Amino acid sequence: MPTLSIVVPLYNEEDNVAPLVERIVAIAERLPEQPSYEIVLVNDGSTDRTLARIRAEIAARPNIVLVNLSRNFGHQLAASAGVDIASGEAVVLMDGDLQDPPELIVDFMAKWREGYDVVYAVRRTRKGESAFKLFTARLFYRTIKRLTKVSIPVDTGDFRLMSRRVVEALKRSPERHRFLRGLVSWVGFNQVGVEYDRDERRSGTTKYPLPKMIRFAVDGITSFSDVPLRFASYIGFFASAIAFVYALLVIGFKLFGANAPGYTKGWASLIVAIIFFGGVQLISLGILGEYIGRIYDEVKGRPLYLISDIERS
Ligand code: UDP
Ligand code: MG
Repeated sequence: MPTLSIVVPLYNEEDNVAPLVERIVAIAERLPEQPSYEIVLVNDGSTDRTLARIRAEIAARPNIVLVNLSRNFGHQLAASAGVDIASGEAVVLMDGDLQDPPELIVDFMAKWREGYDVVYAVRRTRKGESAFKLFTARLFYRTIKRLTKVSIPVDTGDFRLMSRRVVEALKRSPERHRFLRGLVSWVGFNQVGVEYDRDERRSGTTKYPLPKMIRFAVDGITSFSDVPLRFASYIGFFASAIAFVYALLVIGFKLFGANAPGYTKGWASLIVAIIFFGGVQLISLGILGEYIGRIYDEVKGRPLYLISDIERS
């Protein structure tokens, strides 16, 4: 069993595979105490030459493991597959586009040897990202922090080291809408952050276009918070309170033979109330739908991912 496993999910990263492995190996060979290591490359149903490039690495050097998934399962599930297969005492998860500098593994291992179970990388700066992505990411990490009791550190991705007992805990969490960084925080134990400057993607394009980013954000929030479910109750109580006061007014004025304020201008207030509560009800239904959809997915109990083959050098 190796001391260190480095897990990388790869989806259409053909031009990044060789440089990535190169840089990981360079660092892994120079680590203090010379730990044994394996590099677990997960091919997440790539449609380009990623698979062939991984096989070329297996032929060319030792310590490479290929986990070939049966189709594209998405970043979080591909990462989970790699972490499940990894056998190291410490498991590092990183992206395959070299936005996560492998050199940080030196700091990760140092902290791990100090006794930390999770060492996560905190993005001090992010190069080559659009202003929109930076803004929405900032907003997302701060929103989720307010919505959940699990303390998920802000501005961290999945780039992190996990100890064996954290990995075993993850394996016992079979939920399928995976928000790994949240799950790892939820596990607990001793966690610490290490700051770094996030590089630009080396080649290719992002695999997280806006719709996927939104799904990912919704997955994160619904996996770790039930606050949105209570949204309807809050609005409901608020509306009932106003309605009660207004009802008292109407009755009071009626008793004195007068009309309540707003009586003659009734149409405007009615139409606003109807549109407003129509919208609120549909939003509430949508939120319910999000959670019910997730329950439906969970009860089906399908496997999280399917492995087509595992190859080792
Ligand atoms: N990825 C994957 N399956 C997918 C989408 C992405 O395995 O369906 C991998 C991708 O190859 C990369 C990592 O997940 O190694 C992060 O993706 P990306 O760099 O596109 O995300 P971004 O950095 O733009 O948020
Ligand atoms: Mg990237």
